[in-house]
Amino acid sequence: MDHTVPRDSAIYDFLTADRLLVEGHFAFRSGRHSGALLDRDRLLADPTAASRMGYALAKRFFTDHIDTVAAPSIWGAGLAQWVAYFLDPKAKVVYATPVDGRPTIAENLRDLIANRRVLLIDNLIISGETMSRFVGLVEDLNADVIGLGTLWNSSDPTISGHEVFGLLNTRFAAVPATACPLCVAGEPSAVAVGY
Ligand SMILES: [Zn+2]
Repeated sequence: MDHTVPRDSAIYDFLTADRLLVEGHFAFRSGRHSGALLDRDRLLADPTAASRMGYALAKRFFTDHIDTVAAPSIWGAGLAQWVAYFLDPKAKVVYATPVDGRPTIAENLRDLIANRRVLLIDNLIISGETMSRFVGLVEDLNADVIGLGTLWNSSDPTISGHEVFGLLNTRFAAVPATACPLCVAGEPSAVAVGY
């Protein structure tokens, strides 16, 4: 349990009330199980909730002197804006440009990455593949990757040597099936999730 960031119970209240977060027993394609399922399509649809979650992520990296917040996906881009806005001083924001389904960093954005202190943000980290590829791109430009942040991480807690901060993981861990406390407690079998 991570106690470095105070829980914002308003975030959970909102997510639960709007059915964006359902509690139960779920199996993800990463092979991990969790007691929570998020509605990934509507997670950032409400700007008040999105801003609160962006603030909570920014808070984790407040003292890290982030120059640029970079997102590998359009889903992460909306969240990245909030995170950059709440950092002090505010950070710049870079979105990846998808080319053949893979994130790339446009030529005219590279000076915002090269030799900068960069925080990578995505709305959700599912398998970790997109984020891992994005870390490679950013590090190829000699950026210093200060952290990886997301609302929820269903993959490994470390990607490409960087620890992932999953905001909702502090309450709903994603654990390997073999270590799942719900399975051990004999809860009904996990519902397979399509991602
Ligand atoms: Zn389980």
